[in-house]
Amino acid sequence: MDNRELLQRSLQSVWHPCTQMKAHETLPLIPIRRGEGVWLEDFDGNRYLDAISSWWVNLFGHNNPRIKNAIKNQLDQLEHVILAGFTHEPVVELSERLSALSGLGHCFFASDGASATEIALKMSFHYWRNQGRENKNQFISLQNGYHGETIGALSVTDVALFKDTYATLLRTSVQMPSPDWRLAEPGESSESYAQRCAQMLEDYVAAHHEDIAALIIEPLVQCAAGMAMHHPVYLTRARQICSQYEVHLIADEIAVGFARTGTLFACEQGRVTPDFMCLSKGISGGYLPLSVTLTSDAIYQAFYDDRVTRGFLHSHSYTGNALACSAALATLDIFAEEQVLEKNRIKAAYLNEGLQAFSELPIRHLRQTGMIWAFDVETSAPDFPRDFYRNALEQGLLLRPIGNTVYFMPPYVITEAEIDQLLGKTRQLLEVYA
Ligand SMILES: *Cc1c(COP(=O)(O)O)cnc(C)c1O
Repeated sequence: MDNRELLQRSLQSVWHPCTQMKAHETLPLIPIRRGEGVWLEDFDGNRYLDAISSWWVNLFGHNNPRIKNAIKNQLDQLEHVILAGFTHEPVVELSERLSALSGLGHCFFASDGASATEIALKMSFHYWRNQGRENKNQFISLQNGYHGETIGALSVTDVALFKDTYATLLRTSVQMPSPDWRLAEPGESSESYAQRCAQMLEDYVAAHHEDIAALIIEPLVQCAAGMAMHHPVYLTRARQICSQYEVHLIADEIAVGFARTGTLFACEQGRVTPDFMCLSKGISGGYLPLSVTLTSDAIYQAFYDDRVTRGFLHSHSYTGNALACSAALATLDIFAEEQVLEKNRIKAAYLNEGLQAFSELPIRHLRQTGMIWAFDVETSAPDFPRDFYRNALEQGLLLRPIGNTVYFMPPYVITEAEIDQLLGKTRQLLEVYA
């Protein structure tokens, strides 16, 4: 197929996400023909290092043989079946394994992250209602938090660009100060700042807990905020506060789950088990849409009753899709058998060492958690994100700055040679701003 023709047809017929379509009059739209490892290849044979894991979903590379074969095998057995009244092997095995890994005994499936958020919010509210505490119907979240863009998820999201236009459609929710350590006072450690934010959380919860169903947070890294990172003590304190005042803790691990932060789940670093955990993105290794909301036995039991309406009647057509579950099982197999966390630690140390050469560049707040790196570029160029994105593409790098924040969230299969390329080219791109 001719490259130019495909672009034209895409612009005519596909409404691309998170895009002012008119921007494509000047911004390139890139048709991708195939992927391999960290690389994406376009129709002209140009290759792009996928340093953002195709929007944070890919873990073990494009065209991963293990995940691909698992899907192929499943395809010969069963592609999909209604999950109401029916069940199948992949969804049972996946639920059991996720429960064992998270300590939360029940899995409710959907297909995207925003739906997992919606499910957690509805379940939390419905739990309190089943307990005769209907006034617990408010949600609190963190400043600059992101939990998806459907109406309910957007209500607890705090990103003005995505939210303000739809403000009158949304339910109000309250945002607590973000423990993002960039907001600490000069001389204040990330830990004391996290403690201070936790104290403000406690003050609010102590005064309003009668009306609060749940606190929803992105543990350790608020990714959409521009990879805002915080000290794990915040998680520990948030758990204590929620338990003390009978407020659910919803951990949105949609972006940070599956070892992005260095542990399988970010919550582990605060030694915390939430009441609900939302997972998506990396769950299928970036192969197929799948999300899950996990919750505890105690919450599940509050719905278990002879009365239909005390049950959770929510559903999505593709709930528990067998192909997506098979991709997720293959992803868990890779974690179980290929020493992923250890290998990632070595790669992260290598990348960190390479970043020392960035000290001369006009950047600040260089930060890392697990397999996520970010820094803020000191420039007042108004079109920085768009220009940097375009220039990076010309150098064969897929990087998508958030405001002035440039971040790396590469697939875990990235090699040292590829890390060298990533850092070398990024450095060249940044020298322009010095
Ligand atoms: C991406 C993301 C979501 C939304 O997931 P979608 O699949 O895009 O709906 C929710 N929460 C967090 C933390 C995310 O990063």
